[in-house]
Order: sequence, then structure tokens, then C-alpha cells
Amino acid sequence: MDASDHGMVDYAAFGKEVRDFALTHCPAELRQAVASLKKVGRHEMLTWQKILYAKGWGAPNWPVEHGGTGWDMRQRHIFDETLAECDCPTQPYQALRHIAPVLIEFGTEEQKRRYLPPILRGEAHWCQGYSEPGAGSDLASLKTQAERVGDEYVVNGQKTWTTGAHEADMMYALVRTAKGARKQDGITMLLIPMDTPGLLVRPIRTIDGLHNVNEVFFDDVRVPAANRVGEEGRAWAYGKFLLSHERLGGANVAPLLRLLARTRRMVVEEFRDAPETSQRAELERRILHAEAEIMAVRALGRRAIEDIVARRPLGTVSSVIKLASSNLMQTLDEIGLDATGRRLAARFRIAGDDRANAGEAGVEWLHNFLHGRARTIYGGSSEVQKNVLARTLFGD
Ligand SMILES: Cc1cc2nc3c(=O)[nH]c(=O)nc-3n(C[C@H](O)[C@H](O)[C@H](O)COP(=O)(O)OP(=O)(O)OC[C@H]3O[C@@H](n4cnc5c(N)ncnc54)[C@H](O)[C@@H]3O)c2cc1C
Repeated sequence: MDASDHGMVDYAAFGKEVRDFALTHCPAELRQAVASLKKVGRHEMLTWQKILYAKGWGAPNWPVEHGGTGWDMRQRHIFDETLAECDCPTQPYQALRHIAPVLIEFGTEEQKRRYLPPILRGEAHWCQGYSEPGAGSDLASLKTQAERVGDEYVVNGQKTWTTGAHEADMMYALVRTAKGARKQDGITMLLIPMDTPGLLVRPIRTIDGLHNVNEVFFDDVRVPAANRVGEEGRAWAYGKFLLSHERLGGANVAPLLRLLARTRRMVVEEFRDAPETSQRAELERRILHAEAEIMAVRALGRRAIEDIVARRPLGTVSSVIKLASSNLMQTLDEIGLDATGRRLAARFRIAGDDRANAGEAGVEWLHNFLHGRARTIYGGSSEVQKNVLARTLFGD
């Protein structure tokens, strides 16, 4: 039972408490970094996590006995939206929201004792080793091999697009331990310390000039069998459980609303000397259209929260929200680029160095546009979401 079951939560007061805390306790340089679309990695996430932990707000989505807050879904949603509105960094989501719920549900007592407290305290950074060359949307085709030798697994193969692998202490990885009748069978989840001999991280520089993602190579990497989560060969089910915990991430429209406001401000500034031009009118028409769609996503997200609270099935709403919110981010990036682009394009340098364009006024719009290309790929690509919707609407 949580607080909402007593019907006693004052959500407005709760939202105000979260906002006041965020504005007074989240360090200005972190909020500045988020507001100016800088890279947010290990340092930013763990610094903020330590502060939230000290307040007792470290793990809103965990059960109380492991350090959770006991908040209901609505409070958790208000918490996430309010922190995003205040430009706070995201919490270390791969640790806190991805692997931790899996460990709580399927891990051994020793794994919970060892891994959960450092995650809660903001002392451990994790990465997700799922995708491989040839196994992205079709994840079940993954080939990284783990062979059981005594009380260890010996891992060989490659992961790719691994966000934050270069800054992580641990990886939770899906590996193949057997060939089953279905390709979803024979997949096992291992917890792999990133400093294990034979593990090599190689950076991938993306089109935005940043280093966030990596290739990770395994050459006879020895992992204790005690680091296996759940049963051997059964990890497909754990992976699906993990995704269900993230199903409503896109329902948080605060980042979209923030970007909308920035886009609006920027158009006013760029066209200060030519406020009546048809180009400006067209940009404003596109902004209004995007705003209407964001309101629709917000309404869908709120209804989904009510459905969860009332324990009604969610259906495909998370696919609709993911599809719409990632498209909307890109739409706003495009509007920003169309407004600043002509002035900036000739000056922008992709130099594999975050600082190459520092100081160039408005350069974040070019950067954001390039950075945002990946939004419709990761977390389930738009085409894959459309397949989910089409199957529901029209059948297989
Ligand atoms: C910035 C970024 C960060 C990432 N971080 C991580 C991470 O931390 N850990 C991790 O494990 N992975 C990560 N990924 C990988 C991500 O999950 C995959 O890129 C994604 O699943 C798509 O897989 P793919 O790149 O192999 O493309 P593919 O699956 O090969 O898809 C290529 C194209 O074909 C389309 N397509 C594929 N299947 C179908 C279909 N059945 N019907 C119609 N169209 C289809 C896709 O939509 C896409 O347009 C990250 C990716 C990016 C870009």
C-alpha cells in the first residue's frame, strides 16, 4: 500500500516541495550544463544522485525496504517532471531505473546487498550492454558468447553503441549461453566489472562531435558465475521486465516544454530586426503545431498514469508516446536549426572536440539538431514502434 491508497497526498504541495528543493540544492553549474544542452555524464548524474540520496529521494521507483520513497505513481511522475523543468540532470537511469529493479526482482540476496547501496548513494555508474553489430532492433539475434568454465563464464564477442561504457564501473550485459529452439532462448544476463582483463572500450564519435557511445570488445573475459542474474538462458524475460519499467519515460513532457520555450525565445531573438517576415510567420506556425502535439502527448501520459494507478491495462500507449515525443524533439530541433541555420552553418566545425565551437552564439541549435538524430533510433526505433501499433490495429 502506498500513500495514495489513503487518499491523503496533496500533490500540489508535493510538487512545490520538489521544486523548492531542486532550485535550492541542485548546483547551479549542473543546471546550467543541462539548460545549455551540454553533455551530461557520470560526474553530473552521480553528483546530483548523492544530493537526492542525502534528502531521502534517491530511488523513487524502488520498494521502501531497499531505500525507495514509497511515493505513488503520480508523485513519481510529478517528481520527474519537476526536476526536468528545473534543468536538473537525469538520475543515473541505467543503474537506478534499469538494472536495479531487475536485481530487486530476480537477483540473489548477495547481489542486492552488493550492488544496490552504491547505486542508491550515487557511487556507481552502470552501462547497458545489449546491442551488437547485427543485433539492435532484432536484439534476440545477439551473438556475444559466454561459455561456462568451472565457476566462471568466459565471454567473447562485441557490444556496440554502449552509452557511457567509458565512464562506467559495471555493465549489465545480455550474452548467449546456448542455442535454443527460439532465438530468445539461451540468453543470459551477466554483471561485468568494466575493469575485467580482456575487456576493451573503444570510443565512437557521433555526428554531434561528442563521445557518449562506445564499442566494447570481450576477449576471454572471465566473469564469476555469481554475477549471473537469475537463471541461465532465461534473460529474455528479465530484459522485457526491465523495459516495462521504462515504459512511460516519454510521458515526461517537461524537456519538450522546455525546448518549446527556448525555440520560441530564439525565433523572437533571431527575427528581432525583421519581425513581420513570412519566414518568421511560418516558424511560428510550426511552433504552434508542435505545442498542440505536446499537449496531446501530455494528456496521453496523464491518462496512462491514471490507468496505472487504477490498475487498468496500458495497451500500446507507451509506443504512441515514445514515437510522438521523439518526433517532437526533432521537430523543435529542426525549427531551431531553420531559424539559426543560415547564420551558423558556414561557421560550425565538427572537429571531434566538444570545445571546437564554444563561444559561437546559438551553436547549441546545430549541436542539438545533430545530437537529436538518434532519438528516433534508441529506446526502440520509430519504425519498430509503428510495427507495434500496426500489429495492434490490423493484427499480424
Ligand atoms: C545514441 C545511442 C545510444 C545508444 N545506447 C545504447 C546503450 O547504452 N546500450 C545498448 O545496448 N544499445 C544502445 N543503443 C543501440 C540502440 O538500441 C540501437 O541502435 C537500436 O536498437 C537500433 O538498432 P540498430 O542500430 O542495430 O539498427 P537496426 O535495427 O539495424 O535498424 C536499422 C533501420 O531499420 C529499421 N528497422 C529495423 N527493424 C525493422 C522492422 N522490423 N521493420 C521496419 N523497420 C525496421 C530501424 O528502424 C532503423 O531505421 C544506442 C543507440 C544510439 C543511437
